Amino acid sequence: MITPKQLHKLAVRHGTPLFVVDHDEIRRNYATFKKYLPRVQAYYAVKAEPLPEIVKTLYKAGASFDVASMPEFEIVHENIQHMPPKQRQQWIWDKIIYANPIKAIEALTQLDPYKPLVTYDNPEEIKKLEKYAPNAGLALRLKVPNTGAMVELSSKFGADPGEAVDLILAADKAGFTVEGLSFHVGSQTTNFENYVQAINLAANVFKDARSRGYTKMNLLDIGGGFPAPYDKSVKSFRILAKKINTELDRLFPREIEILAEPGRFMIATAGASVVKINGKAVRDGKTCYYVDDGVYHTYSGIIFDHCHYHLKSFRKGPVRICGVFGPTCDALDVISMSENLPTDLELGEFLYSPNIGAYSHASSTWFNGFPPAKVVHINQ
Ligand SMILES: *Cc1c(COP(=O)(O)O)cnc(C)c1O
Repeated sequence: MITPKQLHKLAVRHGTPLFVVDHDEIRRNYATFKKYLPRVQAYYAVKAEPLPEIVKTLYKAGASFDVASMPEFEIVHENIQHMPPKQRQQWIWDKIIYANPIKAIEALTQLDPYKPLVTYDNPEEIKKLEKYAPNAGLALRLKVPNTGAMVELSSKFGADPGEAVDLILAADKAGFTVEGLSFHVGSQTTNFENYVQAINLAANVFKDARSRGYTKMNLLDIGGGFPAPYDKSVKSFRILAKKINTELDRLFPREIEILAEPGRFMIATAGASVVKINGKAVRDGKTCYYVDDGVYHTYSGIIFDHCHYHLKSFRKGPVRICGVFGPTCDALDVISMSENLPTDLELGEFLYSPNIGAYSHASSTWFNGFPPAKVVHINQ
């Protein structure tokens, strides 16, 4: 793990705001995933942090990729091209799934020559696919319980299990192969029963489809949602993996291919942020620090990801509750109203946040003229 001392050194050398990516930690996370879920091929969800260096590291480690837009597809496509061209077309979809149930026509037109593997969850999408991507292979996205996830996804995507077989047969009639099912239990799922219920729902759909004569499904995609250890309340991945393995082995024979789309799990603990104190004021008796990164940038997860990040001081000393604000003129740009920090920090000193790799730098803007944090890769 990257130490505070190393972070401080990097901030002195490169300046702030700084986003540090530790590739040893990415490889460790991938290895942990494989070790505890040996039957599951990990398709890294690129949206969590789409830097090409990360794609390269995960590709070398053996990962595949989940993309949801053409720019994400290009990032992966450009960084994994080491195969002879002849084998490529077929091979590429062992490495990429286009897991956005609603796809733009332009995207489908561009993807079709690659014979893509894509997800869908409604009849309109089948019509669109018929017209613009007749060579696609399909996976039906199911709606599953998202209880207790930090970020809920089931209200936006997923076919009701009751409609699933009709949608499979409709796609079959339109000339597609429905290769299997996918779902997402919600991001940062600490309620492990969500996975158990979702795998059972999927198994029932496999059974119903078979009883209605559809036997071509050979793939189950258990999605993302695997929690990052942000604090001690998150139970160990080993416990979750054991539950998942038990259900998979009970309900899905070995010949069914199992995929997952972990985003946060791979990258959250591999990213750290370092910021500099630009200003300091006492407001209503509370020390307030103004730093050079905020919610329009690396701390965007506070808004979009419903995630709370802690700021730490490099210097020890008696702490009190302080406020920490971002650099823009917007009053929304608040990193925290209550961080335990020393009150004697001076302008120019640094603060840092560990475990901020996922859904953070990825959604940085240029609001108010402030550019995204500089990225530094270590242990690449
Ligand atoms: C966002 C997303 C993921 C990644 O989710 P995590 O909770 O970060 O693991 C995987 N699959 C799909 C379809 C997604 O939309």
